[in-house]
Parts: sequence; structure tokens; C-alpha cells
Amino acid sequence: MSKREPYLGNPQATIAVLNKYGFTFQKKFGQNFLIDTHVLDKIIRAAEITEDDFVLEIGPGIGTMTQYLAYAAREVCAVEIDKSLIPILEDTLSDYDNVTVINEDILKVDITKLAEEKNGGRPIKVVANLPYYITTPIIMGLFESHVPVESITVMVQKEVADRMQVGPGTKDYGALSLAVQYYAEPYIVANVPPNCFMPRPKVGSAVIRLTRHAQTPVQVENEKLLFQIIRASFNQRRKTLANGLKNYEGLSFEKETIEAAIAECGFSPSVRGEALSLEEFAKLANVLGRAK
Ligand code: SAM
Repeated sequence: MSKREPYLGNPQATIAVLNKYGFTFQKKFGQNFLIDTHVLDKIIRAAEITEDDFVLEIGPGIGTMTQYLAYAAREVCAVEIDKSLIPILEDTLSDYDNVTVINEDILKVDITKLAEEKNGGRPIKVVANLPYYITTPIIMGLFESHVPVESITVMVQKEVADRMQVGPGTKDYGALSLAVQYYAEPYIVANVPPNCFMPRPKVGSAVIRLTRHAQTPVQVENEKLLFQIIRASFNQRRKTLANGLKNYEGLSFEKETIEAAIAECGFSPSVRGEALSLEEFAKLANVLGRAK
């Protein structure tokens, strides 16, 4: 069966669907629907969707991007929390027989199990115009639970996209930058202005692609400790690294052990966490891990 070309993705078609179902936007679900075909094309291109791919879409809304994904991919699974969108999706996706819609909170879905059942455990692609209020838990959840993911191509708040891709010495650098870069290679595909959405968000947006590393760029003996150290270092940005680590609940190293580890790594005693690269954090995690 030849697939129908996507027909949502412009303001007129979106308004027609919304009016047909008397849909009202729910702020609490971060609902800002895409109404720009150029942006949609760009996302699909950046995600490099092929007929072999199984794609997980988070938050399909009225199914605009879902149509594009269904057109390009082998199979799509879309997880939508808002039950009032389910009858709309049944309608807008009725021409596509390769889409499954799950009415669930994405944070409660066992994505590893889904990838196992739907894609034989092979890496999946995640594509979404994310609900911004849960961007970090969604992305960190995908990485930390070791879901087999090849790439994540998502619309996020512009400021969050910047944070994901910067390095040390910049104001946006923090725990999110390090976590994302530990697991993936970030690449900002496009900046997207508010007028590409309905309703318009108050913030600028950007599409970012995170391509999972085949192998992490640094080797650590204890991943959990690495992330505890990173979190402790950025918990109170103005503190020195040594003070940040000493005062962080969950890390129980003696003051002397921390100072000795910082010296062994060759860092200045007054260094701040925001000056350290991922490699340097990994070195510190390995030295401190052995001191335990
Ligand atoms: N993909 C659509 C588009 O681009 O037009 C809608 C994107 S809108 C920014 C975010 C979507 O995520 C909404 O449909 C919203 O209802 C849904 N959503 C919000 N929280 C969610 C959650 N926890 N789990 C699944 N979907 C969620």
C-alpha cells in the first residue's frame, strides 16, 4: 500500500482538526503544536529516518510529525499522555497502518521492553517535539536506563539545547552538558522561532540531534560516582570543587581524601567544577573511586 503524504503541518489544517474536535490546549502538558512544514522536513532529515527504522515519538499531539515519521519509517510508536488527543490521532493517522499510539506518560513506559518487542532489541530512533517541562528527565531516562537508542532528534527550549552542547568555561556549562556528552554527540540542527508553533511558546526553540556514542569518550570504573561528583560540583556553582564535594549529601569522602585526589589529578586546590572537562571529571572519579 502506498502511503499518504503528510497533510497536517500548516496552520489551516491544524485549526481545522482542533475545531472539528473542540480541542483545548493544556498548558500543564506543554502543548505547542508544530505548524511549519519546513521545520518538520528538517527534523525528519536530521533524524535520517529510513524505511528500516523503528521510531519512538514522544507526545504526538494531533499527529502532525507522526504523519511525517510514518511516511518515512518502517514503524512508529507514539506515546501521548493526553487522552483527549487519542480520538484525534485515530482520525489523523487512519491512513497509516504502521503507527501504534499508546496513551501513557512517557516517564512510565518501559522503553527497553518496547524496543525489545517492536525492534528485536535493536537500537531505535527517538524523535519528538518534546514537552519542555520534562525535557531533562526524558533524555536522562533514555540514556541512564541504557535503552538501546541510536539517536535522539528533538525540539527543545533553545537554552537547553545550548546547555547540552557547550564545554567548560561558558555560563551554560553544567551537569546536563556533561551527562549528554558522556552518552552522545550533540549537534544543533536548527533554531526555531515561536511562530512555528500553535500556540506560540514564550521561549525560543531548537532542534538538537544526539547521536549515541558507540563507546563512551571516557572510561570510568564507577559511572554512578562520576555523576555524583558532577552533580556535587555544579550544585553550588560559586564554590570550589573541593568544597562542593565536601558538602554534598550522598558523597562521604573525608576532606583530606578529596584534597589529595584533586592534587593527584593535577588540579589547583581552588579550581571550580565549571572549569573541568569530561575527561578531567572522569580522572577525578577514578582517583576518588580507588580511595574509597
Ligand atoms: N508532536 C506534536 C507537534 O509537534 O505538533 C506535539 C508536541 S507538544 C510540544 C508536546 C506533546 O507531548 C503534547 O501532545 C503533550 O500532550 C504531550 N505530553 C506531555 N507530557 C507528556 C508525557 N509525560 N508523556 C507523553 N506525552 C506527553
